Amino acid sequence: MYNKISGDILKSLKEILGDEFVINDEDNLKLYSRDYTENLSFNPEVIVKPNTTEQVSRILKLANEFKIPVVPRGGGTGLSGGALPIYGGICMSMEKFNKIIEIDKENFQAIVEPGVITQVLMEACEKDNLYYPPDPSSKGSSFLGGNLAECSGGPRAVKYGVTKDYVLGLEFVTPTGEIINSGARVLKNVTGYNLTQLLIGSEGTLGVITKIIFRLIPLPKYRKVLLAAYNSIEDCAGTVAKIFQSGITPSSLEFMEKSAIKAAEKQLSKKFPNSEAEAQLLIEVDGNYEESLDKDIEVIAELVTEQGAFDIILAEDSQKMNEIWALRRCIGEAVKSISEYKEEDTVVPRSKIPELIKGVKEISGNYGITTICYGHAGDGNVHVNILKDKLDDTSWEKNLDTAIREIFKLTVSLGGTISGEHGIGYSQKSYLPIALGIEEIALMKNIKRTLDPNNIMNPGKIFL
Ligand SMILES: Cc1cc2nc3c(=O)[nH]c(=O)nc-3n(C[C@H](O)[C@H](O)[C@H](O)COP(=O)(O)OP(=O)(O)OC[C@H]3O[C@@H](n4cnc5c(N)ncnc54)[C@H](O)[C@@H]3O)c2cc1C
Repeated sequence: MYNKISGDILKSLKEILGDEFVINDEDNLKLYSRDYTENLSFNPEVIVKPNTTEQVSRILKLANEFKIPVVPRGGGTGLSGGALPIYGGICMSMEKFNKIIEIDKENFQAIVEPGVITQVLMEACEKDNLYYPPDPSSKGSSFLGGNLAECSGGPRAVKYGVTKDYVLGLEFVTPTGEIINSGARVLKNVTGYNLTQLLIGSEGTLGVITKIIFRLIPLPKYRKVLLAAYNSIEDCAGTVAKIFQSGITPSSLEFMEKSAIKAAEKQLSKKFPNSEAEAQLLIEVDGNYEESLDKDIEVIAELVTEQGAFDIILAEDSQKMNEIWALRRCIGEAVKSISEYKEEDTVVPRSKIPELIKGVKEISGNYGITTICYGHAGDGNVHVNILKDKLDDTSWEKNLDTAIREIFKLTVSLGGTISGEHGIGYSQKSYLPIALGIEEIALMKNIKRTLDPNNIMNPGKIFL
């Protein structure tokens, strides 16, 4: 289907980039064979590290001519196998595109290269009292290009939206090597089709992003965190929609069931209060007026108590808030360290969360599998981690796929879909038809074919 990297191709790549940035020793091939998705691993044949758009364009023209797959790679923190070079070929690491080109304080914008680490941009903005809100829990190592390709969310999405809501324009290179500048440095734009948004969430299958124009907002001055502990998962999940009905939009609203908190305690070697509670909500509010936040906290505290919370912890100073957030942010890693696992990224209307979690527990009971649920409950996004734990290999292999299908069918029947922020990538592609119709998938494949006639750009992702 694809050609292998020949000596001539290697020579051409070295002419484009110089010897130093064309790498094919065994250790590096192994290093770039993985992301954070379960224990999947596929070696690329070569790793290239361009640092100009021209170089990206020349590499893609070469790959397109000789039918060689190219997989763009950011920080390698993806959870659906998007950056895995499943057909070998070229791994295009964007790590040298790591400059913040400009922070425009007058217009609240940032021009950034895609290899900048998410947290680096956030901190640079904060120095100027500006705010870049999308904050995946991997923000310390994910790249902004990867965030765009996955349309990453994170805890603050509930109030501030996801990555796509902050992108005004892009420079990207098509799979055939054309350099496109989409969008503009403006807040309104209906000039032709919205190619910027087409690239966002396209998981590296439609082109390589080489520059990003972000919209920023003013940095909120204050924030406060409340942790509410429940003895019933149902009461805890049922509180989520009620908080919004009270007229308050928290800046984060996270759900954690007991087993998630226990895993985090183990990971951090630290005991947290109320860790015997069946489930907890982490609720953060932010804004510019402290008195108004105090009022919000008062209303939320009354409401969670009415809904069955048996204890509330309020954190107002940074140290205490950071401790609580450290607990939440390490859950992903913590769960991963328990046993072989598969992570699902279900999302439903927030009022349906109790039904989703109840259904997930019933399905896991029916198949003898363990599930740990946690995540961004405020936007209905519940991560369902399915653990092999003590299950024997035969039962795990036999039951896992069936259980996932049942969970996804339930999710869709509740008005939801199968990925809120992790994407379809490699690991979820067999489930796509549960969420999308045949015609919709066909239309998507046509778009892919138009941009990438030789199917060299991150092939084997999203579609079967
Ligand atoms: C502990 C942990 C916590 C996480 N928490 C969250 C969370 O809260 N919210 C969330 O949304 N996600 C979360 N994730 C998932 C992951 O971090 C995000 O999907 C992130 O956006 C991936 O960025 P990356 O730079 O690591 O991309 P990679 O994994 O390197 O790549 C992801 C995809 O982007 C493509 N890509 C990368 N760069 C480019 C480019 N320049 N042009 C075109 N395509 C490109 C790749 O081909 C691939 O398909 C978490 C992951 C971990 C490990």
